[in-house]
Amino acid sequence: MGSKVKRKRWSENFSEWYNELIETAGIQDKRYPVKGMNIWLPYGLKIMRNVEKLIHAEMRGTGHEEVLFPALIPETEFQKEAEHIAGFEGEVYWVTHAGHDPLEVRLILRPTSETAMYSMFSLWIRSHADLPFKIYQIVNTYRYETKHTRPLIRVREISRFFEAHTAHDSYEDAERQIKEDLEIFDRLTRLLALPYIVSKRPEWDKFPGAYYSLGAEVMMPDGRTLQIGTMHNYRQNFARAYNIQYETEEGEHEYAHQTTFGMSERLLAALIGVHGDDRGLVLPPTVAPIQVVVVPIPKKDVEGDVSVYSREIAEELMNIGVRVHVDERDIRPGRKYYDWEMKGVPLRIEVGPREVEGRKAVLARRDTLEKRTVERSDLVKEVRETLDKIHENLHRRAKEFLEGHIKRVDTIEDARRVFRDRRGIVEIPWCGEESCGLEMEEALDAKMLGTPYPEENSMITDKKCPICGREAKFIARFARTY
Ligand SMILES: [Zn+2]
Repeated sequence: MGSKVKRKRWSENFSEWYNELIETAGIQDKRYPVKGMNIWLPYGLKIMRNVEKLIHAEMRGTGHEEVLFPALIPETEFQKEAEHIAGFEGEVYWVTHAGHDPLEVRLILRPTSETAMYSMFSLWIRSHADLPFKIYQIVNTYRYETKHTRPLIRVREISRFFEAHTAHDSYEDAERQIKEDLEIFDRLTRLLALPYIVSKRPEWDKFPGAYYSLGAEVMMPDGRTLQIGTMHNYRQNFARAYNIQYETEEGEHEYAHQTTFGMSERLLAALIGVHGDDRGLVLPPTVAPIQVVVVPIPKKDVEGDVSVYSREIAEELMNIGVRVHVDERDIRPGRKYYDWEMKGVPLRIEVGPREVEGRKAVLARRDTLEKRTVERSDLVKEVRETLDKIHENLHRRAKEFLEGHIKRVDTIEDARRVFRDRRGIVEIPWCGEESCGLEMEEALDAKMLGTPYPEENSMITDKKCPICGREAKFIARFARTY
């Protein structure tokens, strides 16, 4: 694509901007002939791998072991937990034949891996000494989405599905795990500069088979929320269905308590949406495949100097671990700026004859678009500090945007006004009854995200449920969602 293509604007039409940028920035190609299943392009995959490196490090640091389960699950295993099957049977892909022969036991392509893993848990977990048991995998999962598909957000092949599964000897220990998941999630999103909120999902929207579910959302630029993380406490629901028992110290047999923690390539969708601007991607330095691009701006006769000087800078930065690239393509500098801005490279260094002569360099920040001339002797220190500042700035402005789009109101009328004006998240007093919650969803044409978590943040007094007029017990959050 040339620079003549008129790009969709992030600030005006986010949805089109997003779909277009996914391809022009080299994230994914969505022309693969299976709807909702897309191809990862090299640049997009590099960003996602950098996100996954952070996930692997967090999992290692918290004592989770990585595993890989098969993608196919026998129908007989899939059907063991009643709520789970009811929740997923409408969206699974079936494998019914092998060659010309119908299979005796049909297979499903995993939509998630509880039913693949837990019959194995029942073989692996024997004694209290085996607990807590903590594993995870990052794999592809398949869900037949009937809604409008969108790359990285709503797809039929979730190709980078992260799922951690744990087993514990008590409800309290499972609760500790949920707390650890939240801490992991907090550290991870800090590294991605993604501020978020956590809500306890209402009963009618919890994960099929869970005792309760937590969901973490970010705010996209159009005011719709995107769920990027979930944590579920299963209590003993699956352990009973899959006979996961352990022997206590006293020699008794107990069912294990279980939790899961899920994320996916939606993390990348959040990075693209939350930080982007009219020029394209803006990547946090932590996950940018190229953190610094050096652009030599040669002039006739002095070309060699500019090129040598640029490479020296790149080498020095590489030596301190910066991911750096020198763009020596034979095209106009303006075109290079355009390309790297679209790809979201956090920092650009411009080097012309004047910089070479004066032993200087120009630093151009992607987040603020500011340019500054620095001394060559200070360059390494300046680059390091500027990358840190970019990260902090991305987090700060995303946090301001999120907080500025959460509005607490008392009536349906006021809630409607918020969605009309600028969208975002509306918090309304709620009695806790499902019927009132569903009625509010309908009246607002929005989804109930749930109640603020930790639960002490969701309690209110002296407010009435706007539907039934009874005393409200909670604050409930509503939003238009992706
Ligand atoms: Zn009510």
